[in-house]
Amino acid sequence: MHLVRGDDRPYPPAVRRSRKLLAVVGALALAALAFANTFRASPLPAPAPYAGPLPKASPPESMRLVPLLTGVTHRSAGFAYRGGSLLEKRDFSMAAALVRHPRGDVLIDTGLGKDIDAQFQLMPWWFRATTRFTRARSAGEQLDAIGYDRSRLRAVLLTHAHWDHVSGLPELAGTPAWVSAEERRFIDGGGWISAVARSTNARWEEYGFEGGPYLGFAKSHDVWGDGSIVVVPAPGHTPGSVIVFVTVPERRYAFVGDLVWQREGITEREERPWLQRTLADRDAGDVRTAILQMNALAQALPGLAIVPAHDARAFAEFTSPSPAGSLELR
Ligand SMILES: [Zn+2]
Ligand SMILES: [Zn+2]
Repeated sequence: MHLVRGDDRPYPPAVRRSRKLLAVVGALALAALAFANTFRASPLPAPAPYAGPLPKASPPESMRLVPLLTGVTHRSAGFAYRGGSLLEKRDFSMAAALVRHPRGDVLIDTGLGKDIDAQFQLMPWWFRATTRFTRARSAGEQLDAIGYDRSRLRAVLLTHAHWDHVSGLPELAGTPAWVSAEERRFIDGGGWISAVARSTNARWEEYGFEGGPYLGFAKSHDVWGDGSIVVVPAPGHTPGSVIVFVTVPERRYAFVGDLVWQREGITEREERPWLQRTLADRDAGDVRTAILQMNALAQALPGLAIVPAHDARAFAEFTSPSPAGSLELR
């Protein structure tokens, strides 16, 4: 590297050496901070397995679950959860899931839309500087490509209203976006963290939690009344974050949104590293509570497929068994 002053005279060798030393020390200090940030002394304490009733569900035979991957964000395991390796690259899925149901299809989140580059400019500089993503075709583009009849799409059901979950809403204009009252207040409340959601001018529709306890969560909302799509409040990441339980004839799924970013967060009881918790979560204590509730469920129901919104492995497993991947309604 050629170090020069404004007048083009090179700095003396001693100055150049001390600048290099400073750069090395700075890089080492940053690396040490990054490792300290993701270090774990021990996982969260293990809860007792869930011992409550298994809620009844009678999903129609024609129900299908279709993953729509709309891009990736380039991260690492150590970025996602305490104890993960910073050297283990993880491409976070930016995804939507189409739940086909004879009474009306529901899209869980949207992933990245085709306007993401412009929307991303609404995020603060430090977020843009530390976030690298690659966009694929949006959910709307993928549905159009296969000739999907959009009149079948009843709503977009959001796990929460962060940028990477709402980005595709403008392409689905006319389809209502279902949110809880708490999340609606969060969207309207201002600030950078919900700026992309506000910019979508979506047709927000609020729903309530009229149903009783469900798999350890205090209240619930049964979308079609048959137990096939049941939403429970799981606040913490945002004030109105929810978990969507989807039961298709062959399997139960739990769409946990950003409760954790990778499934080790639940299976190994590891919350996000300190810095990520501080910046990304509205209430890290509530997130911790919900992680342990899901861990208790996972212990009791090993067949439950836990789907964090950004865990590409969980979406890859949708297509097995094979009927789940089909866009055709029988
Ligand atoms: Zn989020
Ligand atoms: Zn997210």
